[in-house]
Amino acid sequence: MDSSQRSRRFAIFSGLIGLAFLVLVSGFFNLQVLKRDYYLEISLHNFVRPVTRNPVRGLIFDRNGRLLVDNRPSFSAAVVPAHAKESTLFRLEEILHLSDQEVRKKLRRAPRFSPTIIRRDLDDSTRTLLEENQYFLPGFELNLDFKRYYPPEVNSPHIFGYIGEVSEAEQKRHPQYKAGDLIGKTEMVQVDDIMSVTETAGHLIDGFGTRSRAYVQVQNGCDHRCTFCIIPYGRGNSRSVPAGVVVEQIRRLVDAGYLEVVLTGVDLTSWGADLPGTPRLGDLVRRILKLVPDLPRLRISSIDSIEADPALIEAIATEPRLMPHLHLSLQAGDNLILKRMKRRHSRDDAIRFCHEMRAARPDLVYGADIIAGFPTETDEMFENTLAMIRDCGLTWLHVFPYSPRKGTPAA
Ligand code: SF4
Repeated sequence: MDSSQRSRRFAIFSGLIGLAFLVLVSGFFNLQVLKRDYYLEISLHNFVRPVTRNPVRGLIFDRNGRLLVDNRPSFSAAVVPAHAKESTLFRLEEILHLSDQEVRKKLRRAPRFSPTIIRRDLDDSTRTLLEENQYFLPGFELNLDFKRYYPPEVNSPHIFGYIGEVSEAEQKRHPQYKAGDLIGKTEMVQVDDIMSVTETAGHLIDGFGTRSRAYVQVQNGCDHRCTFCIIPYGRGNSRSVPAGVVVEQIRRLVDAGYLEVVLTGVDLTSWGADLPGTPRLGDLVRRILKLVPDLPRLRISSIDSIEADPALIEAIATEPRLMPHLHLSLQAGDNLILKRMKRRHSRDDAIRFCHEMRAARPDLVYGADIIAGFPTETDEMFENTLAMIRDCGLTWLHVFPYSPRKGTPAA
């Protein structure tokens, strides 16, 4: 081989290497620069991130079944440093009235992929503002937790006594009790049967929240026995506050300057079943709107869609002062799991309800409670729940990982 042949081959070889290098560099450029956002998005959905969820603390009652210590939902603003953009931090500082130094100090040593709380216990207006802007705040999360709530009319339960679930040590001392039984926790009170509580006194009503929104508890306890739920064992059977008492309370709240009232209850749609004439929740809503004309906005908290009565459905469809937001207690979207939970609706019931209500009131938005990981739930069953979320058009979810409650059938 002469030298001209050698240099030609060398040139061809160098050209091939250069070409291969060019292909590699352009592939790298394509992945890292041109399609960066696409692959980043995919990778963000493909990793496991531990999130701490604190258990809800137990409720405390006195011997008459009166609630002494409750839990209330509390929302916190959290940031995942790895996902948060500069614009996210800037906007959050504005909304939460935090300085740049405060936010950066909190995030400096925070784990890159874990939500770090930058403001706890948000008031309702801040929370609503954050929810509205959530789409424009990548890396921001709204976390739900529970805080202790001491009803203002209850004084010093630790001195005067309270009842609670029997502990293991107490069970050893008093073998006649079984797990889940309620017994007196101090010498001042005795064993009580919460299921015998029938009181419907006005203390079930409470006005609190922001300066513009008040919560009025119109019902407590529950007659159902969903297999995962401990509530009926702690709060007893359903009791309703009479409509007259509710209306009077709301009048007082409106006089005090409240612009919005939220009706709450453990099983709100069962309101009225224990009252004379068995009125329904829809009757109560209509009565409030009629008798308190100065109330600008009425809202109902979580409801069981299958128990919504015709008057309530009509009120939602036609009353502009009734806010177009429903939080549904759905729990799952698979029929077998719903049956095992002893829920009273099927997946089709839930979807039909959402479609019919939205047809009647197009601006209606839905939230829902969902339990993930109920015993015997398979991936396929969970997929059914995901499909139901889409089919119902749910936009706001409270998703709870299943946690066994001692004494419940599911546990
Ligand atoms: S989940 Fe709701 S309806 Fe079922 S038992 Fe508990 S409080 Fe009652």
